[in-house]
Amino acid sequence: MSAEKIMNILREKDIKKAANLLGIEELLLKRLNDQRLLNSEYIRELLIRTDYEKLTRGLKYLIDQKDAYTFPEIKKALVKEYGVTMNMLNNILHGQKNANMYFCKKCGFRISKKTYARTGGLCSNCFSDTLEL
Ligand SMILES: [Zn+2]
Repeated sequence: MSAEKIMNILREKDIKKAANLLGIEELLLKRLNDQRLLNSEYIRELLIRTDYEKLTRGLKYLIDQKDAYTFPEIKKALVKEYGVTMNMLNNILHGQKNANMYFCKKCGFRISKKTYARTGGLCSNCFSDTLEL
């Protein structure tokens, strides 16, 4: 399958996840997907952000545990899973296009829109590191 095709069609797996996430029947989603009636780009981005959120939640506090993945490792896994480039991924996770979920540019921790606007995209912790004392 060409890269373009991969980008335009949701896989079986994506449809399952999206159906769960959006509360839409899987069969209906599948039919719409087959007919190319879905905004697959939007849905894929939603799935990527949701996966990232799920995988990184609380990670900041698990960092010393041996089996904890680092933020870069999680990003690499998402790049492979969804066939996007690291640039695309960063854009999806940290770009302005993302209206609902914001992540710290430095450590990847989820932050509020308000914090994002106030700090220019850093979590409170990383933002405090920029204070010169
Ligand atoms: Zn941070």
